Amino acid sequence: MPHMHVLKLSSFRFASVVCFGALTAIASAQAPAAAPFSTHQLKPNVYWIEGGGGNSGVIVGEKGVIVIDAKTTLDGGKELLGDIAKITPKPVTTVILTHSDLDHTNGLAAFPDGITIIAHANCKKEMETALAAGGRGAPPAGHMPTQVVSKNKENLKIDGVKLEVFHWAPAHTTGDLVVYLPTEKIVFTGDIIATQMPDPLIHLEKQGSSEGWITTVKGIVAIDADQFVPGHGNVQSKADIQARLSSAEQKRAKIKELVAQGKSLEEIQSAVGDAPPAGGARPRFASFTEVVYKELTNKS
Ligand SMILES: [Zn+2]
Repeated sequence: MPHMHVLKLSSFRFASVVCFGALTAIASAQAPAAAPFSTHQLKPNVYWIEGGGGNSGVIVGEKGVIVIDAKTTLDGGKELLGDIAKITPKPVTTVILTHSDLDHTNGLAAFPDGITIIAHANCKKEMETALAAGGRGAPPAGHMPTQVVSKNKENLKIDGVKLEVFHWAPAHTTGDLVVYLPTEKIVFTGDIIATQMPDPLIHLEKQGSSEGWITTVKGIVAIDADQFVPGHGNVQSKADIQARLSSAEQKRAKIKELVAQGKSLEEIQSAVGDAPPAGGARPRFASFTEVVYKELTNKS
């Protein structure tokens, strides 16, 4: 049996471990050793592993293991593989990436050569761009996606495991994939859902979209599933996802109304209750309000 941690929920861990992009990943790479990862079992053959970046899914197939998202760094990837080895002696044969953010991809550096790496076509493009840019944020050149998804839905059968992958619209990024296990009724959402933030996180620099996020989350809640593993945070119920969707829809509608009235971004932020960044620091990523405002006004 894997070690089953009762979750000691701490905002410290959320604040210190969760990261979405280059700046945070570099900061966390320089931080002191993080807490060990935690393995959580959802079904006899399905787990998620928390820590070291985005959540990872682990599905034990007939002969090998399918992993969803690969942590942030080489060391994180090694720790993930070590934790998987405590679950099963079967080798990792396949990785599915939910999107291109490095806290989900760059741990691939630790993975065996020659595995299948499945990603949305746009995720692969974003990783290629990051690879060409080089530097510490670059994904491992030897572990780029080997199989791309470009349709809105594909049914896969990998090592005896039925999976469905969905992409409705650009949302968190333009290369998001949502992974569904129809037999187990589990969905892995990637960062379309990240519970440490109240609002959706949308990377405009990767052509994400607030409208596409709403389309995508409507798609997610329509799936016949009862456990939703987010990109960051704890397993969500369908009601949790629905509440998140309703809140974002209401906030977006309100912002749209205020934009139509000619209000400034600052006026809209105070009207919808966006807290100003602590200590006057610039937030790492644009808030949902800022994203929606920019989309509706075409201001960059
Ligand atoms: Zn992430």
